[in-house]
Amino acid sequence: MIALRLRIDPLPIVEPLIVRLRDDKNCAPQLEEAVLVSRYEDYREYDFEGFGLTVHVPSSVSLDGDVLMIMPGQKSAHRLIRADSKHNTFLVTEQCDQLCVMCSQPPKKHHTDLFAQFEEAAELAPAGAYIGISGGEPLLHKQRLFAFLLNIKATRPDLRFHVLTNAQHFEPSDMDTLDKIGRDRVLWGIPLYSSRHEIHDEIVGKSNAFETLETNLALLMRAGASVELRTVVMRQNADLLPELADYIATKAPFINVWAIMQLENIGYGRMNWTKIFQDTSVAFQSVKTAINLATAHGLEVTLYNFPLCSVPPDYRQFTSSTISDWKQKYLGFCDGCSSRLTCGGFFEWYNHAEGFHRVGAI
Ligand code: SF4
Repeated sequence: MIALRLRIDPLPIVEPLIVRLRDDKNCAPQLEEAVLVSRYEDYREYDFEGFGLTVHVPSSVSLDGDVLMIMPGQKSAHRLIRADSKHNTFLVTEQCDQLCVMCSQPPKKHHTDLFAQFEEAAELAPAGAYIGISGGEPLLHKQRLFAFLLNIKATRPDLRFHVLTNAQHFEPSDMDTLDKIGRDRVLWGIPLYSSRHEIHDEIVGKSNAFETLETNLALLMRAGASVELRTVVMRQNADLLPELADYIATKAPFINVWAIMQLENIGYGRMNWTKIFQDTSVAFQSVKTAINLATAHGLEVTLYNFPLCSVPPDYRQFTSSTISDWKQKYLGFCDGCSSRLTCGGFFEWYNHAEGFHRVGAI
């Protein structure tokens, strides 16, 4: 697994520090850049404004252009941006007002506001980067998030963001801000699990969540926002996917894409796995019908986190290699599979003993 935390020798700092690493010893470092001085088998030394920064990584790992966040007193740095990856995400809060049965990042009560540091990091991102904003629920800190997006728009208009939100916290008064942030700069990724309010509310653990979501989808439509609806397939909602396809086609035809997703077995997803995992490698019919209905209505549909071989051949065109590179793995039978280059494989923590029954090299 690719490391998102790197061991460092602690620095005598009192505030979080954002720093971009550079390999080119002859470059003229900008403010917030550390330049490589020495490289050894399992650690590197950088010069940062006259001070030494030691990062412990194997020599095979590329760090050139990576952006780190170093917290006071900590012996590891957060690798916020990997310059050679398309899977960079800022976890802006661990607080959430929902309690979803499959949550991969169970919420915590405490919040540390690091928006200023995330802004600094984004400003150091490679040209044209697409950065995920995740939580927790990022819009619990809506004003801070909006300010972050507006500030970055001014300083780095080339960057785009995917913001994962439960859409419970938009208000009519946000219309102007959404307009200023811009339709093309942010894709709002919003989970919707069923067209039946009681099932959606039960899955997300919050009363009236469906009703609020429905209201706010209409608001996002009026704002001209870009929206990705996300539906994790579970035993609780699998049979109702065709009904949900009809609902989306009728009530939210403006969305950019409907992502039908497989479960990630970590956090509450792991805790509840045996009660919620729907083995779509042997029970794909409802997904198939939902795709047929949605595409017939002109919706774009994508299958996220489905191993390619778990999907019937006619529907593999809808799959997308979405598992982030740092938590992606392949199993023994993937060796020699002709589709390995286009398949996203499995989550690092996937347990095949309780997973897909019908998968194998194709
Ligand atoms: S065998 Fe492995 S690489 Fe091939 S399609 Fe299945 S999961 Fe993907």
